[in-house]
Amino acid sequence: MDDLIAELGLPPRPETLPTSTVDAHTHLDTTTEYTGLAPDDALALAASVGVNRVVTVGCDVESSRFAVNCATTHRQVAAAIAIHPNDIARMSPADHEAAWEVIDELAADPAVRAVGETGLDYFRTKDPALQGVQHESFRRHIAIAKAHDRTLMIHDRDAHDDIADILDEVGWCERTIFHCYSADEPYARRVLAHETWLSFAGNITYKANQPMRDALAITPLDRILVETDAPFLTPVPLRGKKNASYLIPHTIRFIAEFRGVELADLCHQLRANAEQALGGSWGITEGGR
Ligand SMILES: [Zn+2]
Ligand SMILES: [Zn+2]
Repeated sequence: MDDLIAELGLPPRPETLPTSTVDAHTHLDTTTEYTGLAPDDALALAASVGVNRVVTVGCDVESSRFAVNCATTHRQVAAAIAIHPNDIARMSPADHEAAWEVIDELAADPAVRAVGETGLDYFRTKDPALQGVQHESFRRHIAIAKAHDRTLMIHDRDAHDDIADILDEVGWCERTIFHCYSADEPYARRVLAHETWLSFAGNITYKANQPMRDALAITPLDRILVETDAPFLTPVPLRGKKNASYLIPHTIRFIAEFRGVELADLCHQLRANAEQALGGSWGITEGGR
């Protein structure tokens, strides 16, 4: 494994975590494209540092199909599927309906635990008409999550209030994950009033992101998830390098220290939280590595 990462020019393996845990949001297909790590190697590397469960997330029809296939053939993987808000904004309107239909069909697959990443992204999509397309797509994904009793997995960039307003209007899902949580403490309080989990990525370690840390400080321990969103958002001290699930220990150690909790307890908690947030246990049995 160390030879492989050296060959690919990837960061060294961090110290193994004391208890096995979960990467709550990653893109195994994009990780392969960007780092050269095949899914089996990315999973083996992650497991070698204690990360033995991974949620791989789709952003369009193709990557959603990949996620379902990957989760079907790997018991340590769960799938999340959706058309990403920036992807729907790029698609021809003539193709929207067919794409949502595929997501609705795939959502019935037992390998699928979440519908997402869906939501709004005003950072990359500035055109109000295309933001309107994102609203429509978000509403369709919420309906799909509810119809199949799947967890809603939200992507939110510079659109915090509109996301919560839409959920207030149509009704919150049974379970909702805010992936790569990027808002502040008051917003955390607003969404935590519902059945939600806040998933923190490597950017929680970046100096400028104090408002996110203020949110982390008040999030109950049983509502925290940790993710890589690999291959991007690599945590300090590796910021700017390529990311993969095996690097999540840097972020988990940072959060354990920030919250003043034992690393082993946090790892265990994160695994329990992921199971709750994703509607029940999956994959490897208790104690398995
Ligand atoms: Zn995202
Ligand atoms: Zn993502």
